[in-house]
Amino acid sequence: MEKDLELLWQKAAAFHGHVCPGLAIGFKACEAAMKVMGVTGSKDEELVCITENDACGVDAIQAVLGCSLGKGNLLYRNTGKSAYTFIRRDTGKAVRFYMKKRNPGMEKEEYYQYLLECPIEEVFDYKETQVQLPERARIFRNVTCEICGEDAPEHRMRLQDGKKVCMDCFKEYTRGW
Ligand SMILES: [Zn+2]
Ligand SMILES: [Zn+2]
Repeated sequence: MEKDLELLWQKAAAFHGHVCPGLAIGFKACEAAMKVMGVTGSKDEELVCITENDACGVDAIQAVLGCSLGKGNLLYRNTGKSAYTFIRRDTGKAVRFYMKKRNPGMEKEEYYQYLLECPIEEVFDYKETQVQLPERARIFRNVTCEICGEDAPEHRMRLQDGKKVCMDCFKEYTRGW
C-alpha cells in the first residue's frame, strides 16, 4: 500500500477499534472516491456520502473522509447493500460504488489484506449517478408530548387517540397490541 494510504488505514483502524474485512471495504471505498472523484483525505465538508449499510466500513468513511452524521454529510439509506455514493457539493458530481467482490473463501486476515492491496476496479463496480440531496437541516418547531411531557420536533410527532405523542410513546402503544 502507498505510504499516505497506509497512514489513513491506521487512522481508520484507530477510530474503529479493530481491523476487519468490513473496515477494509469502507476504506477501499474511500480510496476509490479519492482516485475517481479527485477528493482528498482531508476534512472536506463539501463531500457527502450516502451509505447503504451501517456496518464496520462506515467508520472508515468517517475517519478517512470526514463525513459524519453530525455535520450532515453522511446520510444513511438502508438498502443493506455494500454500496456507497459520494457527492461533491462543489461540482454536483456523484458516483455510486457497489461492491461486487465477495470473499472467495479466504481467512479474515488474508481477506482484508487482499482488499487493501488489490485495484479498486476489482472490488467495485462504479458509475456516475444523479442525486438530489435533501436540504440541510431546517429548524422545526418543538411540540410537547402529551404522554411523557418531553419535547420533540413536530414532524416526528404522531397522533394517537387525538393526542400529540412522541415516537417513544407511540411505540409503547403499538407494542401492546
Ligand atoms: Zn469491524
Ligand atoms: Zn412521549
